[in-house]
Formats: sequence, structure tokens, C-alpha cells
Amino acid sequence: MKTIQHFVDGKTFSGNSNRTGKVYNPATGDQSAEVKLASTKDVNDAVANAKKSFEEWSNKPPLQRARIMFKFKELIEKYSDELTKIIVAEHGKVYEDAKGSLKRGLEVVEYACGIPQLLKGEFTENVGANVDSWSMRQPLGVCAGITPFNFPAMVPMWMFPMAIACGNSFILKPSEKDPSCSIRLAELLKDAGLPDGVFNVVNGDKESVDAIINNKDIQAVSFVGSTPIAKYIYENCAKNEKRVQALGGAKNHCVVMPDCDLDQAVNGLMGAAYGSAGERCMAQSVAVAVGGVGDKLVELLSKKVEALKVGPGMDKESEMGPLVTKEHLEKVKGYVDIGVKEGAKLIVDGRNFKIQGYEKGFYIGGCLFDYVTKDMRIYKEEIFGPVLSVVRAKNFDEALELVNNHEFGNGVSIFTRDGDTGRTFYNKAKIGMVGINIPIPVPMAFHSFGGWKRSLFGDQHMHGPEGVRFYTKLKTITSRWPSGLRSDPEFVMPTMK
Ligand code: NAD
Repeated sequence: MKTIQHFVDGKTFSGNSNRTGKVYNPATGDQSAEVKLASTKDVNDAVANAKKSFEEWSNKPPLQRARIMFKFKELIEKYSDELTKIIVAEHGKVYEDAKGSLKRGLEVVEYACGIPQLLKGEFTENVGANVDSWSMRQPLGVCAGITPFNFPAMVPMWMFPMAIACGNSFILKPSEKDPSCSIRLAELLKDAGLPDGVFNVVNGDKESVDAIINNKDIQAVSFVGSTPIAKYIYENCAKNEKRVQALGGAKNHCVVMPDCDLDQAVNGLMGAAYGSAGERCMAQSVAVAVGGVGDKLVELLSKKVEALKVGPGMDKESEMGPLVTKEHLEKVKGYVDIGVKEGAKLIVDGRNFKIQGYEKGFYIGGCLFDYVTKDMRIYKEEIFGPVLSVVRAKNFDEALELVNNHEFGNGVSIFTRDGDTGRTFYNKAKIGMVGINIPIPVPMAFHSFGGWKRSLFGDQHMHGPEGVRFYTKLKTITSRWPSGLRSDPEFVMPTMK
């Protein structure tokens, strides 16, 4: 059995822990590897190393750091097929979708290539007589990222290219369910010329996460995962005086207005609800059918859900792959059972889906519920599987109220042909990322990604300009070079006369 190790100081690191976790191929259901689960000492050793590397790295001119990012970008493009296959093998999503997610990560690297421009400060000449003042941003030190299973390349790449380009060193603790992609990215960064110890991968579970929270040399923590863990990370990192951004779970609504292009809305919903088997934080799991559009919407959706091609991620025909683990499959099926008990109408039932030759794989077919109401658990809780709930709303105001009263606030979209409705919607929605006739409004790398309410704890979103702010500290300098004249001591607050 292959053992996936850590990557510290530019090389494979075994650490001193004997604990391991199991990594599966979700398409076959077979275990493909075991992964080392780091001890507190392993994490602390990696951090001590990263701290040493920070000194030299942070002094490198931003242009030199950008050149390494350029090289890294080229290597990701060169090895895109290999990286994509690693994602498919451990996560299960279909090849083209995995490739797309890698590309969205690559775009952050491309953005980070502009770091000399992004780090330029602000300068004011003559804030007082012969006094100049400027602001600049400096790196923090060792930063850490803790990431979920659902985007093994993209989510880590929301974090580390920005952190490193800003001059920090980085410890990545990827999901123990699909850790191999992070290790390969670390190797490519080394090949791109990144000095040893600047980027490190430590595999692990709660023990390694707690070691990150408690390590005094880690200045900032970026987290992406479920809401209870995001809250735990936020509270405990803050207690330990760290900067923290913790992105949590979601329940994204898609409001379907009666005036919309219904085919466009249905196609948008299909991709957003069932793409990546619903294991996306921007997946749409609730369709709000407004006015009389519900019956037609459900009729069109049900045909497409029944026709979904579910199969192994490497099969070119597959539109949707398996779920990540057997436990997760059971959890998602359990939610479908709950929905039935709660009285929602199960229009398409994917629970008994089987595929010949892959009987042990973690598959479920697409599921579609109608007449879901806001008091049901399947409406309130994140299922994170291919289960779409249709909720009926009388009018736009009722739909907006549903969106705004939900505890999560990651993404939302509306399908309408009316500009006034679209504008009112994006103006009033209490949600971090809004799409108008766009089913998955994931911001590009040069904007920033993040939700509202219980989908994000902290102040700053990820990557884009917010990424630069998160991974740097602001310093403002005020300077005077006296030319001959020496002033007497002043005991009052200096002001402009
Ligand atoms: P998760 O919260 O179980 O795990 C995330 C990370 O936290 C992993 O690295 C894991 O090892 C660690 N972890 C798990 N349990 C822990 C514990 N008790 N103590 C300390 N650390 C712990 O999430 P997941 O199942 O890997 O990913 C799915 C979740 O991530 C969903 O809720 C999804 O919405 C969310 N997500 C959110 C975004 C976003 O941008 N808001 C993006 C992707 C995924």
C-alpha cells in the first residue's frame, strides 16, 4: 500500500507519527493509499523550518518572487493532465470538471504573477511642510492553510500563491481524503525555483489542525470547510491572536422568475446542482420557483435528472461522478430519507443507483425534491450531494426573504429577463456572491471569493485584492529630512497650521 508522506523543507518528510488515514478511489470503492497523519511535533518542526525560510524569502524583491510564480504557472500547464488525473482518482469528480477546477486555481497563480504591481504602496508628498508620508504592505511570516476535500487543487491555490507571492512562507494542511494533489503542487513549486521551506505540506486530521491553531509562530490561518469547523478555527485562532479567515458551508438558492428563459435556467440549475455531484460550496441546492413557474420547472428538471449520466470520473461519457467516501454517500442518502419523512415530494430518487463493474463505488443518482418548505431539515442543512430541492414562492419578495433568512450566505443567483428585478435582487440579497442569469457566480481570480453570514467568519475574502490585504500588514511611514533649520521641542499634537 502506497503511503503519502508530508513535504517539508523541499523534500519528503515522514515525521514521527505512526497514525495514518485511508485514501480511496471513489469510482471503485477501493483503498488506493494511506496518508500520514501528522503529530503536533511534526507540525511544529515544519513551522520552525518555514520560519527560518521566511527571513530570506521575504527579502527577495517581489519581481523575483513573481518570476517563480510564472515558472510555476508554466509547470501547472505542462502537468495539467497528470494533476487532473490525481484529482479524479482521489476525489471522484469527472475529468473535465477536475481540469476546470485546476484552471480556476491556475488563474490565482496568474494573478499572483502581478505581485510587484499589487504590492505598490501609496505616497503623499508634503503631508506637512517638507514632510512626506507613504504606506506599504509587508508580509506576515508563516501562514497556514487548512482545506476541504472538494477542491484539492483550487482551494489550496486560492491561498498559497497569494501568500507566497506576498513574501510569506506557508504550511498547507490539505484534506486527508485527497492529499496527493497538494504534494505534487509542492514538488512543482520546488521545480519552479521556490526555495526549500517556503511552501510545506503537512497531512493530518484534528491533531495537526490544533497544532496549527496553537503554534505561536503561525501568524495567519486561512480555512475552508464546513461551518462548525470554520467557527472553531475562527474562535481559537482569534484567541491565539492570529489573523484568520474561515470560510464555511453553504445552501445556495437559485431564484427562477416566471419571465426567465426557462431552458437557460434549467440548464444552469442542472450544472450547478449536479456538477461535481453537488460537492461544491457554490452548488445550487435550492431552486425557488416564483409565481406559476414551478410545475413547468419541475417537469423539465425531472427529465434531465433522470437522464443524468453517472459514472467513473475518467469515463468521457460521465456527467457526474461518485461521492468522495462511503460515509459521505450514507450521509447524503440519509438526507433523502429525511426529506421523504418530512413530507417533501421525491420526484427523482437516485438512492438505489448501481453501475455495473463498479458495484463498490460511492455512487448515487441525481435526486430531485418538490414542495420543500423552509422548516424542513433538507432545506435548512447543507447536504453536499446531488440533491436539489424545489421550494415554491408566491412572488419575488417571498423568494428574497427566503434567501435572506437562511443562515448561510455564500452564493445565490436569479434567472430573469427583467433588469429591475435583477438589480433589486443583487442590491438586496444578503449574500457574498450573486449571479444574474449566471448559475455559479464564482468570482475570477482578480476579484475575491467569499460568503456572508455563517458562510464566512472573518473580514477578508480569498484571493484577488482581499488576498493581498489578508497576507500583508500595512505600515505607514512619515519622514522629514531637516535641511539646516532645527526646530525646538514641541509638546502639542502636530497638526497642519
Ligand atoms: P470539513 O470541515 O470536514 O474539513 C475541512 C478541513 O478541516 C479538513 O482539512 C479537515 O481535516 C479539517 N477538520 C475536519 N474535522 C476537524 C475537526 N474536528 N477539528 C479540526 N479540523 C478538522 O469539510 P470537508 O468535508 O472537507 O469539505 C466540505 C465542506 O467545505 C462543505 O461544508 C463545503 O460547503 C465547505 N466548503 C466551503 C467553501 C467556501 O468557499 N465557503 C469551499 C469549499 C468547501
